[in-house]
Order: sequence, then C-alpha cells, then structure tokens
Amino acid sequence: MATVTAPRAVYTIKDTLMTFASLGLAPALVRTLEQIGYATPTPIQQGAIPLVLEGRDVLAGAQTGTGKTAAFALPMLQRLSSASVVRGARAPRGLILTPTRELAIQVHENVQAYAKGSGLASTQIFGGVGMQPQVQALRRGVDVLVATPGRLIDHVEQRTLDLSKIEILVLDEADRMLDMGFLPAIRRILAMLPRNNRQTLLFSATFAPEIKDIAHKFMREPAEIQVTPQNSVVASIEHRVHPVDSSNKRELLLHLIAADSRRQTLVFTRTKHGANRLSEYLEKAGVRSAAIHGNKSQSARVKALDGFKSGAVTVLVATDIAARGIDIDDLPLVVNFDLPTIAEDYVHRIGRTGRNGRSGEAISLASPEEGPLLRDIQRLLKQELALVPISGFEPSQALRLDGSLKIARRPGHAEAQRNRRPPRKPSPGGNASAPRQNQGHKPAHPSVSKPSQRRVV
Ligand code: AMP
Repeated sequence: MATVTAPRAVYTIKDTLMTFASLGLAPALVRTLEQIGYATPTPIQQGAIPLVLEGRDVLAGAQTGTGKTAAFALPMLQRLSSASVVRGARAPRGLILTPTRELAIQVHENVQAYAKGSGLASTQIFGGVGMQPQVQALRRGVDVLVATPGRLIDHVEQRTLDLSKIEILVLDEADRMLDMGFLPAIRRILAMLPRNNRQTLLFSATFAPEIKDIAHKFMREPAEIQVTPQNSVVASIEHRVHPVDSSNKRELLLHLIAADSRRQTLVFTRTKHGANRLSEYLEKAGVRSAAIHGNKSQSARVKALDGFKSGAVTVLVATDIAARGIDIDDLPLVVNFDLPTIAEDYVHRIGRTGRNGRSGEAISLASPEEGPLLRDIQRLLKQELALVPISGFEPSQALRLDGSLKIARRPGHAEAQRNRRPPRKPSPGGNASAPRQNQGHKPAHPSVSKPSQRRVV
C-alpha cells in the first residue's frame, strides 16, 4: 500500500483490482506491459502514474524492487509521445539522472522495453567509457536520456548535449546521489534546465534535509508518495540474523553456502577490500565467486555481473554502492556479511530478493559489535528480526542491541571452538556442497537452531 500526500489530503491506495489501464495509461503501453509480463501495477506505480500523467511534480519515497522505474518511466513516455514525435536530430525532452552506471544501464533497458513501438528514441550516457559513441548517439537525436551526473556535465561543457528542451526530469535514487557526493553536480544540472513548465520527479528511499531542500527549491508543490519499508520489504522475504564472532564469519558463510551451492547468492560487505578478500577466500574454497565494487573497472564489473546473471558465478560479493542497479530477478538469497552502517541500506540490499512476489531469504551475519546496527535496522523496519544461532558458530559474547558486550554463558563453547575444523574444499567443478564433517555435536548440514520467534517482515 502506498500513501499519497496531496497538498491537504492524505489518502491510501488499495493495491488490488487496479489495472494499468485504470491508471490512465494508453492502450499501446498497456499492451507492451502485457507482453513484458506485468499483470498489475505495484503500489508505487498506482500512486505515481496518475499524478505524473496529470503533470504534477512528485516526491516519491521508494527503493529498488518496488517497481519505481516503471512508476516514472511509463507516464513519462506517455507524456512525451502525446506531442507528435519529431524525427531526426532532436534534443532530449526527458532526462533521468541516476547515481551509477549500473543503474543507468538498467533504467535504460527498462525505458527501451517500455518505449518499444512508440517511436521515441532513448540513449544512456555515463563515465568510464569513451565519449565519442555517446556523442554520436546524441547527434542522431533522442527523446529520453538516462545519464549519470558527471558525464552529463562533461557533454554539456563540450556542447555535445543541449538541455534546453527538457520537459520532464527524474532524479532516481536521490539519496544515493547525495551519498556519492553528487549534490553540487545535481544543483548545477538543475540550474541548466528550463524552469518553466518543467515537471520534476524525485525518487529516493530516504529524505535527508538536503534532498528536502532540493525538492523545496526546484519542485512545484510536489505530491508526496511513500511506500513504507514494511510494505516494500516484501512479505515473502524471510529474514534471519545469525550471531557470530567477526573472526568466524567467513567460515560460517561457507558453511551456509555449502548447504545449497547452486543457489545464486549476493553477499554484501562494508568495504571494497573486504569484498575482494571474501571473494578470494570463497574462490579458494571452490565457490565460483566474483567481487564487484567501485575500484573495479567498468569491464570487470560487467564481466562479474554477466557471470552472475548467466550462473557461471554463484556468489557475487558486492559493496553497497556497486550493488546499486543490479537487477537480477528471482535472486533467492541475500547475505549481509557485514551489517550496513546505515540502516536504510538494509532495505536497499534485501530489495534484491523476494521480488515480484517470489520468496527470498535475507541472512545477516552479526558480530557482537554490530548489535547497535541491528537495533537501528529493527527500528527502521519496526520489526524484530529472528536471531538464530548456528550450532558451532555461536559468538563468544552475546549480541546485545544496546551496544554493551556481555560474555555469553554457554557450556562447551570453548570446546566447540577447538573442534572446529576448516571447511572441506569442495569437489572440482565449483560445487561447494561438501558438507562439514559431523564433528561431535555438529550436524552435517547447516543446523539452524529453531528460533524462539521467527518473523517475516
Ligand atoms: P525496480 O524497483 O524499478 O528496480 O523494479 C524491480 C523489478 O520489478 C524489475 O525487474 C521490474 O522489471 C519489475 N517490475 C516492475 N513493475 C512490475 C509490475 N507491475 N509487475 C511485475 N514486475 C514488475
């Protein structure tokens, strides 16, 4: 369910029985969506599409996985195609700004799919690749441009891009742009765009004061739509937290992965270095793994992503920023190897699983020091996550949400530590399914102790 705040009215939208046609989308677009396989609009689409079609500015609180791209792209395309489409060289009328190349590629893919048969042309521009092919694409003429801020400014400065015809601007994942230091660039771009009759749509998972400030200065009485985390953190996701000492996290991860080594798993680490080290560790243990982070070249990132998409890589280790824009449907498992320091990132991370009503699992490995981070996540979600100790991996200190550490009183813990052997190297062929040996009390398969309370958020 989404909540819309019009100037003086707040109302909720029922997410049943709505169709794309009832939101005001044209028959041709509705047919395209049927072909793509979208049966019903998601809550954010139900909230945003009619408002955008009306020409309103919209401030939308929604993160990845909610269907936000279609929420802005579909009505944008409809508005742009309602004016007769000019052929040949023309300056863009729709501009979508994204924080990363990966997200730009993903958004552009969606735009292309939705625009099929409309006669509208689109292109993408981002850094890290040559300017010339982008210049040529712009010269041929585009209606919708998907761009990252830095490269967009480069093109404007080199006069290879004319922004004077922009009618609709979308700031996608505005909070990420802020985190990545793009705020000055965004302000510059906003200053370059036409002011009169420009429609501005801002999508963000969170609303820091700087984002509110942009909304206040550059938007006209925006309607606000909020898809709350509880609703977008899809009900089909099962969340579990395994308490474990930092020093044992790698081994526990391998233990969990070994339970079903063919399962595509996205693992999040806090640092780039940590992502590299973990991926190397997994590779050495026979798990087909790759790391993706900001220090990797564009081609290395694309290779890792393609490998993951094709199934050649089963475990992709990523940092938060690098993972933006990873669009992989039906990802069954997301693991937080490190808890995110910003609670909202938990929502971003697990938005990768349980999409489109499919079931998914979000597993967090939480060390005793990470108790306060877990507390922040639970506060944000307004839910407690099930704490599930794994036999043989219990931490030496209890996980306490107030941040103070307490020695856990568990008989036999020291013995369990002594008995732990490194996991067996899996058989060649990358199948890491060799289970841990049953050592004393340790079962052969990952033993998830029955949680006292298991909650699904
Ligand atoms: P997004 O939040 O835009 O990243 O979208 C998440 C995923 O949901 C993408 O794979 C979209 O293709 C898909 N999607 C978006 N809207 C719908 C819909 N109404 N029905 C089914 N899938 C959708």
